[in-house]
Amino acid sequence: MIGLAIAWRAAQRGMKVTLLEREDFGAGTSRVAAGMIAPISEARPTEQPLLRFALASSRAYPEFVAEVAEASGRDPGYLATGTLAVARDRDEAEALERELAMRQSLGLPVRRRLASEARTLEPGLAPALRLALEISDDHAIDPRMLVPALAAAAERAGVELRVGAAAQALSVTGRRVDGVVLAGGERVAAEQVLIAAGVWSGQLRGVPEEAQVPLRPVKGQIMRLHDPAGAGLLTRALRIPGAYIVPRGDGRYVLGATVEERGFDTTVTAGPLFELLRDAIELLPGLSELVLDELIAGLRPTTPDNAPMIGPGALAGLQWATGHYRHGILLAPATAELAVRCLLGEEPPPALSPARFASVAVSC
Ligand SMILES: Cc1cc2nc3c(=O)[nH]c(=O)nc-3n(C[C@H](O)[C@H](O)[C@H](O)COP(=O)(O)OP(=O)(O)OC[C@H]3O[C@@H](n4cnc5c(N)ncnc54)[C@H](O)[C@@H]3O)c2cc1C
Repeated sequence: MIGLAIAWRAAQRGMKVTLLEREDFGAGTSRVAAGMIAPISEARPTEQPLLRFALASSRAYPEFVAEVAEASGRDPGYLATGTLAVARDRDEAEALERELAMRQSLGLPVRRRLASEARTLEPGLAPALRLALEISDDHAIDPRMLVPALAAAAERAGVELRVGAAAQALSVTGRRVDGVVLAGGERVAAEQVLIAAGVWSGQLRGVPEEAQVPLRPVKGQIMRLHDPAGAGLLTRALRIPGAYIVPRGDGRYVLGATVEERGFDTTVTAGPLFELLRDAIELLPGLSELVLDELIAGLRPTTPDNAPMIGPGALAGLQWATGHYRHGILLAPATAELAVRCLLGEEPPPALSPARFASVAVSC
């Protein structure tokens, strides 16, 4: 997602871009993601620079997807769903009240809803509901539709798209990056190399120790289901403590997701998925009738402060755009804009710069 969005925007700004993808587009974490565009639901008071960036990206989404649709001739799968966060019992309701107060103190638009009001909005919800927050500005997109649409837009804008092209090492002369060496030995020359390889971004050889960025995988298990009866069980994205359900608008749903520190493990395990289903069905009983289409796990590329790293690295000609953690889909439009400005020589905000991590010294 991130690499394609940047490649497209860079080509629009007149740059000559080659995009190297070792498998196929969407082979990485982006095809696993639920696709929530939910800066308000995910807001943390300790992550204000990230929140500002995320809000800007969310606001940019309608125009971004309209442009992608126009440029690609494909539907990018955007759905203005709105979001409902719900509580089942007194403890959860108290926690939700605190979430409401925190969001209000940050000036974010959130509306408190009684259980009866929430059930009028979403009749599929169980009577067990205690309280809800309506977050009308948090929406969703289907990343499996956006990724191919972005690839088509990028290709039409002149990006050379190379799938099956695994970058193996940076080509560095002196302290300047001048290209990439592929797994087969071919060298692709470039004035600048931008690494947007998600959670695998730290694995490219030839990056000196002091130029590396701190990244770790955070595993997420998720499932895809569909309703043979069609759309209607749920129209808004639904958040419950520890889980969410995202409707695609056509009877398909995504139920996610676990957050696990297990290194590069992508196995699918019974226990966490059982817990997701149990909690979701308690609040949305109709979910138990859905057909299970897919169980899958992905790896969120995560930095020590959960914000992405966008901009120049510690070698001349080296740029990064990675570490998007839980928000790579949400942050794609704003990341693409910022990364392109950095490729043109601008500095990123310090809170998003790779240089904020001690071992990275920026070199333009
Ligand atoms: C369960 C789950 C749910 C999520 N839900 C959401 C959500 O609702 N909203 C949201 O905003 N985010 C969500 N995320 C996070 C989001 O998926 C990621 O932040 C985002 O996909 C990262 O995108 P990316 O382009 O950086 O990485 P990726 O999508 O992983 O892309 C990296 C690409 O680089 C390629 N690559 C790797 N190494 C090389 C190499 N050496 N040479 C060439 N190519 C290479 C890979 O094949 C891959 O295609 C979720 C993540 C998970 C796991």
